[in-house]
Amino acid sequence: MTPRLLIIEDEAELAAGLKDSFEFEGYQVIVAADGEQGLEAAVHERPDLILLDVMLPKLSGLEVCKTLRRRGLTMPIIMLTARGDETDKVTGLELGADDYVTKPFSLRELTARVKAQLRRSQNPADIEVYRFGSIVLDFRHNQAQRAGQELELTPREFEILRHLIRHRGEIVTREQLLEAVWGITNYPLTRTVDNHIVKLRQKIEDSPAHPKYLVTVHRLGYKFVG
Ligand code: CA
Repeated sequence: MTPRLLIIEDEAELAAGLKDSFEFEGYQVIVAADGEQGLEAAVHERPDLILLDVMLPKLSGLEVCKTLRRRGLTMPIIMLTARGDETDKVTGLELGADDYVTKPFSLRELTARVKAQLRRSQNPADIEVYRFGSIVLDFRHNQAQRAGQELELTPREFEILRHLIRHRGEIVTREQLLEAVWGITNYPLTRTVDNHIVKLRQKIEDSPAHPKYLVTVHRLGYKFVG
């Protein structure tokens, strides 16, 4: 299924650039050039995700965000904020935006955020708390415990575990992990995945050299068993 994006952005050049890039990535893209148009498009077109500029003519991005949430629309919204404007970020998140990127942003960063938001919104029955062995993972707050003690995991490690646990019992390839967790494809970085797995095992396995939960599937990838 092709994800549909709505870009609400009044800088025509930026909007056109984003449209091209996301279409190239296989998305369907709708562009709106002011807040009113954007609100209208969001309500009628029901996109899967909205990229929402804050400074917009007619109706600000913050107003658009607030109105959409008040009308019960729940699609992910990523705000495009101006550099240094901390107030917009905080207000945006309070008004129901899911994430933000600060201009100027890299396309790669934005694409990764878009993918992450779509992934979350398409898995409504997402895991919140997961337990195995002596480990408790709280994915809502990115907190972990091991035998009742705080266990320090990086955000990346949480994302790796989230993905593997979501697919527990299935083989997950390194490429799939790269795409799901790092948001990148076609990069020869599968070593990165292996290095992260080694570190994760030291944190969650009783015997990291003989993993019980995060197992290697020879030649194919990894599998979470638990
Ligand atoms: Ca603007």
